[in-house]
Amino acid sequence: MVIDVHSHLFMEIYQCDNLPKSTSGLKNFDLSDILKKISKSGIENIVVVVQDGSNTNKICLGSNLLAADLQSKSMGKFIGIGSFEPLDIYDNLNIESLDKLEYFIEKMKLKGLFFSPSYQRFSLCNCKIYPFYLKAYDFNIPLYFHLAALASPAKLSPLEYGQIHLLDQIAIDFPKLKINIEHMGFPWTEELFAIMEHAENIYTDISEIIMRRPYVTARNLALAKEYKVIDRVMYGSDYLGSNITEYLNKIEKETDWIKFELNNIIKKFGWPAISDKELDGILLNNALQFFNGTLSY
Ligand SMILES: [Zn+2]
Repeated sequence: MVIDVHSHLFMEIYQCDNLPKSTSGLKNFDLSDILKKISKSGIENIVVVVQDGSNTNKICLGSNLLAADLQSKSMGKFIGIGSFEPLDIYDNLNIESLDKLEYFIEKMKLKGLFFSPSYQRFSLCNCKIYPFYLKAYDFNIPLYFHLAALASPAKLSPLEYGQIHLLDQIAIDFPKLKINIEHMGFPWTEELFAIMEHAENIYTDISEIIMRRPYVTARNLALAKEYKVIDRVMYGSDYLGSNITEYLNKIEKETDWIKFELNNIIKKFGWPAISDKELDGILLNNALQFFNGTLSY
């Protein structure tokens, strides 16, 4: 069984002034067929992550309403992680979004919140953002942070805001708030593990890097084992699109690599193999621990 903790399945790129409100607006969308295919594939849950860029670049990945609708209509097979830009166009607390946030968590049952400091142009430790973290803490939902390099043009994604060391202060201030750092925080992966070692609420996902950099991924998983944080590493696909067959092929290819290829690379370098229990943790159990029972619907 597998949980994909980080996908953008059906959360395509939209202009932020024309966002989808439900799955009814999606082209060629047949939920019962999709759910049949997912259940045959052995995927337990698919987390869909929304990305709000309404103030910065006017582009959003999916929408909070779409993610909530998908979650509800699929009876929780899909899990929605919402997104809000925490600062307004004047760089002040985005109070409008903060108000909406409560509605989306309480009424629409979104299961977590995503922030991308680089795309959304804010420093993780900016105290103006703290009301968002406090809401997540109060509602006991996890945060997702994209603290990693980005493939976008440099001017659209300044690395200054992606620095992983800033996470340490959040770990100090919110020791019980579950946080997923996407993409193993590359290229600051070892720094991330050092923070994870002393902050048990911090998790990470291996999305996007598996096929692009298999040797780096293998080295990083060996490092995670050495730092004793491998029980907080989770599988994610980072799939962006709406083609269910393409999505399932990607999952199959990547999870097969984890199960059957990863240890071949690890052994080549003489590092200790990742055990079956640790592999099961990456594919399923660490995600269950991260969401702490909130995935049941
Ligand atoms: Zn992503």
